[in-house]
Amino acid sequence: MRGYLVAGNWKMNGSTAASAELVDRIIAGAPASELVELLVCPPFPYISQVADKLGGSKVRLGAQNVSEHESGAFTGETAGSMLRELGCEYVIVGHSERRALMGETSLIVALKFQAAQQAGMTPILCVGETLEQREAGQTEAVIDEQLQAVLELAGIEAFNSAVIAYEPVWAIGTGMTATPEQAQDVHRHIRATLESLHESVAEGVKILYGGSVKGDNAGGLFSNPDIDGGLIGGASLKSTDFLAIAQAAVELV
Ligand code: PEP
Repeated sequence: MRGYLVAGNWKMNGSTAASAELVDRIIAGAPASELVELLVCPPFPYISQVADKLGGSKVRLGAQNVSEHESGAFTGETAGSMLRELGCEYVIVGHSERRALMGETSLIVALKFQAAQQAGMTPILCVGETLEQREAGQTEAVIDEQLQAVLELAGIEAFNSAVIAYEPVWAIGTGMTATPEQAQDVHRHIRATLESLHESVAEGVKILYGGSVKGDNAGGLFSNPDIDGGLIGGASLKSTDFLAIAQAAVELV
């Protein structure tokens, strides 16, 4: 069994005090299940503080972005080695906000995916279509292009230590969740694409759903065979909401 990963993307929210309180509450309420892993991805300035608090807890630490470069004259960027040194085990790459607002192309995302792995972290590769693309029947083509860029650069074996997050852009922060059927269809398509290249890699890779996941819809989404947890934005900022999503996963294992 692949188990579940419930990952919180705090985005650009919080403060020193708020991050401390949030992580304390998550640690205190984290489920004991070996099959449900919790992950928090705070903003860069709070990573160190959150790392100290996580200490020996089973809640994992991740970052929201990483440079595609190893080091050097890249003002404002953060190298994978720096994040790894602070205790990050995961890093989100290709979030739709970075693709749309920061101009990250699929090639840049693929380079970041590779940089994360080279630094010893597990990339969480986000893919997803806009509403216009879905309505034009282009969902699978868009996801294929985003996935293909990584497959071409890093190869199928790289997905042995990667997570994919399907995040329909129209569902992020909008309260409009994909139905469990819509999500499962896309997750199946992603896994089938990987299966056509390497069956056991495809079988092992976790595919998360992201887009307005809450405690009351998580169970319906996570009960599908190809949905292995969630990438959670808004609801990860309130410990009770985030833990309710984790509990939905616990009830399925
Ligand atoms: C996200 O930004 O990754 C996300 C899924 O946000 P939300 O849960 O708020 O839709």
